[in-house]
Amino acid sequence: MNHQPTDGTAETLRLWLLNELRLGITHYPIGHSHGASQPPPVSAAGPAPAAPTGVRAGGMQSFAFLGDDPSLPPLCREELPASAAAAALAELDARYVRGCTKCRLHAHRTQTVFGVGNPRPQLVFVGEGPGADEDAQGEPFVGRAGQLLTRMIAAMTLTREQVYICNVVKCRPPDNRTPADDEMETCAPFLFRQLAILRPRVIVALGRPATQTLLATKAPITKLRGRFQDFPPPELAHLALPPAKLMPTFHPAYLLRNPAAKADAWEDLKQVMRFLGLKIPRTK
Ligand code: URA
Repeated sequence: MNHQPTDGTAETLRLWLLNELRLGITHYPIGHSHGASQPPPVSAAGPAPAAPTGVRAGGMQSFAFLGDDPSLPPLCREELPASAAAAALAELDARYVRGCTKCRLHAHRTQTVFGVGNPRPQLVFVGEGPGADEDAQGEPFVGRAGQLLTRMIAAMTLTREQVYICNVVKCRPPDNRTPADDEMETCAPFLFRQLAILRPRVIVALGRPATQTLLATKAPITKLRGRFQDFPPPELAHLALPPAKLMPTFHPAYLLRNPAAKADAWEDLKQVMRFLGLKIPRTK
């Protein structure tokens, strides 16, 4: 028998539970029928109540990482100086990421690929996951797509050392496939911990997997690309991550296959440069 409600009941309960989670309520005493945190009454026939403010196109999603990962250390809450941030990143990598076996990807990796660059950057680039070259070298974006990313960073008058570069998943998906949703959801708490230490002003999300994970949405990249978004999104507000502007743009591997899209990507990066007060070179 199918017990799935078809009238909005499930959606109503999901929104209510998400709101409770944001308020820090994770457990309920069984048998209490009164109190402030009652779910809204659900009419079998009536429509679901309006979603809480902050719900965006693409709808609320039940990503596993909304509950964070209680096996990891707490998120960094302070603004660390660069040396302490570097040490905190190194500790996160050495103690939690390098030996991680939380998802199936660990079985295929040569090594984990944590991230590189400035430990207190203005700008962070987030890709989807390491490819063969990155898996071999232990550094993100060093293959063909990485070389294009390096040129994109240079076009912004920056160097790889001035920014920080990482991925949603830290292990190479076999055959360079796109990471599966559950793999990204399992790995995302590492990325959130990196971002809590890094505290960039801008995050550039490269491609659909990074954009959808960071914004906790399934909205299509075509709806989001080229427009600044607020990070964290309302769905992640309960993690109290440091706020940043997030620019979704094309992944460099996509740009290698579709060079005509480079003009749009450059427009996206110019918006980032303007926000950061960087002078846009005339010739580009
Ligand atoms: N593609 C990515 O998304 N990340 C890398 O590190 C390399 C290629």
